[in-house]
Amino acid sequence: MADTTKSPAKRLGSRYGRRVRHKLKDIEILQKKSYKCPYCNAIRVRRLAAGIWQCSKCKAKFANKAYTVKAE
Ligand SMILES: [Zn+2]
Repeated sequence: MADTTKSPAKRLGSRYGRRVRHKLKDIEILQKKSYKCPYCNAIRVRRLAAGIWQCSKCKAKFANKAYTVKAE
């Protein structure tokens, strides 16, 4: 099935090569989505910086992977 979601790598136009842009798209989608909070279980954890995540419900700030939150 065709991927209908707009790629966040569209802003780069034709630069940097197809494979690099496709890898970037996958990573940017992962880093921008909300994750489940390990403290209150709400799906409201957002990325602040590389490896730093914060829950907008309980304000918990914690370290995890650079681009995703690994569920344990
Ligand atoms: Zn929380």
